[in-house]
Amino acid sequence: MPLLRSAFIALSHNRPLRHFSENSSIGLRVSSRFVAGMEIDDALRIAESVNKQGMSVSLDSLGESVTSELEAYKSAEVYHRLLDAIAERKLNANISVKLTQMGLELSPQLAEGIADDLAQRAAASGSFVRIDMEDSSLTQVTLDIVRRLHARPELRGAIGIVIQSYLYRSQSDIEQLIADGIRVRLCKGAYKEPPEVAFPRKADVDANYIRLSCMLLDSPIFHGLATHDESMIFEAKSFAKQHGIDPSRFEFQMLYGVRRDLQRRLVQEGYNVRVYVPFGREWYPYFMRRLAERPANVIFLAKNFFRF
Ligand SMILES: Cc1cc2nc3c(=O)[nH]c(=O)nc-3n(C[C@H](O)[C@H](O)[C@H](O)COP(=O)(O)OP(=O)(O)OC[C@H]3O[C@@H](n4cnc5c(N)ncnc54)[C@H](O)[C@@H]3O)c2cc1C
Repeated sequence: MPLLRSAFIALSHNRPLRHFSENSSIGLRVSSRFVAGMEIDDALRIAESVNKQGMSVSLDSLGESVTSELEAYKSAEVYHRLLDAIAERKLNANISVKLTQMGLELSPQLAEGIADDLAQRAAASGSFVRIDMEDSSLTQVTLDIVRRLHARPELRGAIGIVIQSYLYRSQSDIEQLIADGIRVRLCKGAYKEPPEVAFPRKADVDANYIRLSCMLLDSPIFHGLATHDESMIFEAKSFAKQHGIDPSRFEFQMLYGVRRDLQRRLVQEGYNVRVYVPFGREWYPYFMRRLAERPANVIFLAKNFFRF
């Protein structure tokens, strides 16, 4: 399985395959398992239906690693339109943003300026910007940007971050973020990382996930636990019960199209659930990371392919 995971992550960087997949009708059909559609309206329609099922949403306009300032501003424009639509339609939704899509690799100042504008727009309408976490070469700069923006009184509570339990550094990052009052989404981590920075064994990643989720639950800030792993969810629920932490003080987060049964069950049990809804034409790297997490999805997709 680790070999297959590495293979899919390597494929997620394959440009010719990406070009072919994103432009073929077969690719579009297959991607619809994990991607809400190609246009903003598709994503808003899904968000409405997820809200009707008692769950909140985080909207992700797919794309990463832009190569020009113009592209970065174009990507940001989509998010501004999303924030306006969320406010107009009174959706229970926020946005998830990758800083490389906002030009981080061209200039950290460019990405910070764009994130600042988005957080201001979100703050004005009572929404929220979640900055996704990408590979470990970007962890520090992402943390620095989010902490600087969050320190501004008008943006307090309007911007949050993601921490990955596979990184050794995450415990101290979480201590700092809790001290700063910054909302965290905890996930296991979706990129290929070397053993110098990340736990190579899944058992250690999982143990760290449980340790970090307890730290987050114990803090007075509203955090998100992003996982489809029932044992992680069980541990979090048990810790919350033992410590008298009300379910309204945190949320579980899951990806669109993954473990819908579990999403519904948690809602029925009275937990907050937020569904991460990705959309857009640049779906290929996101889609390959989902296959990397569960290579069995390939068989699942193949079986369902002819049933569309
Ligand atoms: C809301 C949300 C936001 C995220 N944001 C980020 C981010 O900013 N940065 C980042 O690095 N990663 C992010 N991730 C991805 C995350 O890091 C993991 O790669 C992913 O969630 C798989 O880990 P898991 O906790 O679900 O458990 P795993 O141990 O990978 O899986 C546990 C079980 O969950 C189910 N499962 C997991 N993944 C899938 C799948 N793709 N399809 C079907 N079943 C599956 C299977 O039953 C599996 O046995 C995010 C995940 C979520 C849910």
